Amino acid sequence: MKISINGKYYSKRTAKVSVFDHGLLYGDGIFEGIRVYNGRVFKLRDHIDRLYESATSIMLEIPASKDKLTGDVIRAVRLNKLKNAYIRLIVTRGAGSLGLNPFTCRNPQIIIIVDKIILYPPRFYREGLTVITVGTQRNIAEAVSPRIKSLNYLNNILAKIEALNSGLPEAVMLNSFGFVSECTGDNIFTVRKGVIFTPSIYMGVLEGITRACVIDIARDSGMVVKPIVMTRHDIYNADECFLTGTAAEIVPVVKVDGRKIGLGGPGHVTKSLMKKFKKLARSEGVLAF
Ligand code: PMP
Repeated sequence: MKISINGKYYSKRTAKVSVFDHGLLYGDGIFEGIRVYNGRVFKLRDHIDRLYESATSIMLEIPASKDKLTGDVIRAVRLNKLKNAYIRLIVTRGAGSLGLNPFTCRNPQIIIIVDKIILYPPRFYREGLTVITVGTQRNIAEAVSPRIKSLNYLNNILAKIEALNSGLPEAVMLNSFGFVSECTGDNIFTVRKGVIFTPSIYMGVLEGITRACVIDIARDSGMVVKPIVMTRHDIYNADECFLTGTAAEIVPVVKVDGRKIGLGGPGHVTKSLMKKFKKLARSEGVLAF
């Protein structure tokens, strides 16, 4: 494995960052998770754009242009010779003093890891997931906006622990008003009477790139998609439910808080979107080889 740190390549053993890096000390930094399908980097421009948006929000100047960073990501994929992969693109605040002040950190670190993708078991896609709502609320946007893909994932990790403690793989997180926001690493959708719903980004969610892609696919095939204020009642009474994310792609949800969703199996809209997404993911994207 060849890991890029500021454009230089290191082995897994020698790739290191400083213990004074504020990314480690405070979770002060941002990242993206990106998929490579058949040698093509999927939605690379969207991921680069979102990374720069996160950077703007936390007042971190990425020491590279978007074009340069795009080229660096493609080079890292090529060097690692992986045609199907997961890329972790990270920008940390860099090393500074032990105080919080981010402006003592003069050298943000740009790290690119290209690894094999660890997928959810195929059973999850065939049979659908059982999830629960957890007590840990999603960060309030006025404190730390969930639209920032930051290195501090404790909010999501605490929710994930609650789900795992209940023997379930994912958690539905509510915002501070009690409305549905998203899951710990995925956006959530429902389908009712042929219409697709998802919490609006103003409900405190990450503006998922898979979410946007699924919305486009659905609208292109003539379906209506509505970003809404979603309650748990809406989920319990939906015909279908599914999650979206770069790693998970589209995964059906068949039970929420003990309530069977629809007929209790992956719904036909979900299955059709899964098929269309798979086709798109394997044909689109920036060719790395
Ligand atoms: N929400 C959260 C909290 C996430 O971490 C992620 C990414 N794993 C998503 C949603 C899905 O976003 P994307 O489709 O861009 O991967």
